[in-house]
Amino acid sequence: MSERRDPPDQLAMVDPVHRYPSITPPEQNQDEPGLESEIVPEPDIGEFTYRGTGRLIGRRALVTGGDSGIGAATAVAFAREGADVAISYLPSEESDAQNVARIISESGRRAVMIPGDLVDPAFCAQLVEDAVSALGGLDILVNNAGKQIARDGLAELPDDQLVETFAANVLAMFRVTRAALASLEAGSSIINTTSIQAYQPSPTLLDYASTKAAINNFSKGLAEELAPKGIRVNAVAPGPIWTVLQPSDGQPTQDLPEFGKDTGLGRAGQPTELAPAYVFLASPESSYVVGATIHVNGGKPSP
Ligand code: NAD
Ligand code: MG
Repeated sequence: MSERRDPPDQLAMVDPVHRYPSITPPEQNQDEPGLESEIVPEPDIGEFTYRGTGRLIGRRALVTGGDSGIGAATAVAFAREGADVAISYLPSEESDAQNVARIISESGRRAVMIPGDLVDPAFCAQLVEDAVSALGGLDILVNNAGKQIARDGLAELPDDQLVETFAANVLAMFRVTRAALASLEAGSSIINTTSIQAYQPSPTLLDYASTKAAINNFSKGLAEELAPKGIRVNAVAPGPIWTVLQPSDGQPTQDLPEFGKDTGLGRAGQPTELAPAYVFLASPESSYVVGATIHVNGGKPSP
């Protein structure tokens, strides 16, 4: 990402239909998790389009899957709002993570990079320990890492994929959050990334969609547990967002050119269009928002 983009930032008054073009991505495929730097067209993670307004000054955040897509856009926005940010990612995503760390540093905040596989329970605990020690504490946890592999129905779903998708999307969220509890004080915020798939499951994504329903349920239950302690838990449910998740086996390749065109706005969302929802839920201004899900899906009917 090297050129200045139009529009200038997220606060400019624009028609949301045209804030970004309705893209028709060419058919493409990478081995998952893929590299954001290699997808066409390049997604907008907010380097030139997210302006901070001082809403998270001095906070310390951990964003899993913060190397690319929605996690990267969230990490960039948090930094622009004044937070120091630790990001986790898979070792193969080092170059994407370096790019996000550069943007965080150039925003004047501290970037902490913690590679590892969240399927490994030991890494889930180590990640939190390393983030807390590098940041000097933790105020915001975003469970955002996710695995999505499309298959032609249940009969075609291999058992190792089934187990890994639940481990990466659900078990890691339990483990990372449990490890973080000891460090989170009143005023802290936990935000989980769910999906429209929790409500409108695609037959090609039965395992993934089920994990997203579980994330919703966990978010609401944990919100009840932690609210009396002053720790808020909420979720963000993205619709079709143009990220490397999609062309790294997340969608049937032939479906990519039409990706996101079935929304009210008629286009896929860009990762940075999710960032304000995470900033809102992380910031104390959302003090009475507990156990909620913010839908950011371009206008698809959602509960
Ligand atoms: P992305 O590929 O950019 O981000 C997903 C990240 O998850 C990867 O960068 C990777 O670092 C991390 N990850 C996956 N498996 C991991 C593992 N085993 N260990 C450690 N990290 C691992 O794609 P994205 O679209 O930005 O996805 C972010 C979140 O948004 C995911 O939870 C995804 O399910 C959710 N989501 C995305 C969309 C969409 O249309 N893109 C829609 C709804 C929900
Ligand atoms: Mg990535």
